[in-house]
Amino acid sequence: MTFYENTLKQIEKAAAIMKLAPQTKTLLSSPERILEFDLSIQMDKGEFRVFHGFRVQHNKTAGPYKGGIRYHPEVNMEEVKALATLMTLKNACVELPLGGGKGGIVVDPSKLSEGELERLTRAYTRALAPFIGPEIDVPAPDLNTDEKIMAWIVDEYAKVKGKQVLGVVTGKPLNRGGSLGRTEATAKGGFHVLQEYLGCCGTLSKGLKVVVQGFGNVGYHMAWFLDDAGYKLIASSDSKGGLYCGKGIHPTKALACKTEKGTLHECYVASVEYEAEEGEACKKISNEELLELPCDILVLAAYENQVTERNASNIKAKIILELANGPTTPEADEILEKRGITVIPDILANAGGVTVSYFELLQNLKNEKWTEEEVEKKLEPIMVNATRKVVEMSKKYGCSLRMAAFISALERLSELIVKKP
Ligand code: NAD
Repeated sequence: MTFYENTLKQIEKAAAIMKLAPQTKTLLSSPERILEFDLSIQMDKGEFRVFHGFRVQHNKTAGPYKGGIRYHPEVNMEEVKALATLMTLKNACVELPLGGGKGGIVVDPSKLSEGELERLTRAYTRALAPFIGPEIDVPAPDLNTDEKIMAWIVDEYAKVKGKQVLGVVTGKPLNRGGSLGRTEATAKGGFHVLQEYLGCCGTLSKGLKVVVQGFGNVGYHMAWFLDDAGYKLIASSDSKGGLYCGKGIHPTKALACKTEKGTLHECYVASVEYEAEEGEACKKISNEELLELPCDILVLAAYENQVTERNASNIKAKIILELANGPTTPEADEILEKRGITVIPDILANAGGVTVSYFELLQNLKNEKWTEEEVEKKLEPIMVNATRKVVEMSKKYGCSLRMAAFISALERLSELIVKKP
C-alpha cells in the first residue's frame, strides 16, 4: 500500500468512527488540483537537463493551500498527494485558516551547483506562478529546501508579476519578510503539545528521560526546550548514528561538538566533559539501538518510516512524540496501540511550524514585524487548544490520539464544508 493509500485509509477509519458526512469524505478523498511540470535548465557545462516537478493543491475549504516544497531524488506524485492531504488535516487540526498543499522536484540538490539550483528553482517558480499567491497557494521549505530557495522564489515571482509579493511563500530569510521564531517553531509547538498532554493525561515531572531521534533543526531545538524544562536527554542521533549518555546530554554542548566533528556520533570522545560533570562516560549507539532504548519519551525528529512493524515490538518508550512527518507506519501504529504506547501524532505535534508560517503570512499581508515574544504568545494557545481538543476526541470516541487528531480535523472541515453554499 502506498503512503497516499495509507493516508486515505486513515481518513476512512476516522470517518467511520465519527460518522462523517459522506460529502466531506468524498471532497477530501482526492486533490482539487494536480500540477506537473518538466523543467528544462542549462547546466554549468552548457548541456540542458529536464527535471520533473509537482505541486498538489489538495483542499482549500479552510483557506489558501499551504505546504512545503521538497527537493529529493525519490519524491513522487503519490508521496506529494499524501503529504498535501496531511497538510489539509494538519492545518484543520490546529484551526488555521489554511488548506493543504505540497510540492516537489525530483532532484538530488547535493549534486547541483548553487547556480544550477537557483536556475531550477526559478524555472519551477515560473511554472508555478499562475497557480500560487498569498490568497491561492503559499509554499514553504521542506526537505532540502531552505530560506535561500524561498528568497529566489519571491524574486522570480516578482519578475513574473511585475511587483513584489512577499506573502507568496513563507520560510523566508528575516530580511526578506521572514518571521522571528520560525526556526524553532516546530519544536516549540511540539513542546507545548507534550507539556499539555503530560499535564492532562500523563505524568509531568522533572527528570523524565527523553530520547531524540534526529539532531537537526527540529530535534536540536526540542532537546534544548526539554532540557531547559528539566527533562533529561539521554540519547540523540543524526544520520550517521547515535550518542547515549545515561546521565544526560547537554544539548548546547552536544551541538557545539557535532558542529566541530561533523556528527553527533563521534561526540562520545568529548564525553570527558560529561564524565567530569556526571560521572559516566557516553557511548556510541546505532540508530536502531537508539529507537529501542528504555525511556519515558521518544521524540521522532528525523524522517518518515522510522518505527515500523520490524521494530515496534521492541520500542520501550512510554510516549512517542512525532515531530517528523509520518515517522510511524500504520502497521507499527497498531502494534504500539496494542502495547499501550501513546503516539502523539505528527499532524498535531509538528503543527507549530506551519502555525508560525501562517504568522509570517499575516505579517507580510499587514506589513508588520512581530517580536519573538509576540510570536510565542500567539503560538502557545493554538497548540494547547488543539491538544485539548484532540484529547477530548480521543476520550469521546475511545480511540488513539492519531485517530482523534484526524477526527478533530475532519470535524472542523465538515463544519466549514456545510457552511459553504
Ligand atoms: P534537518 O535536516 O535539520 O534534521 C534532520 C536530522 O535527522 C539530521 O540531523 C539528520 O542527520 C537526521 N537523520 C537523518 N536520517 C536519520 C536516521 N535514520 N536516524 C537518525 N537521524 C537521522 O530537518 P528538520 O527541519 O529538523 O526536520 C526534521 C523532520 O521534521 C523532518 O521529517 C521534517 O519533514 C519534519 N518537520 C519539520 C518542520 C520544520 O519546521 N523544519 C516542520 C514540520 C515537520
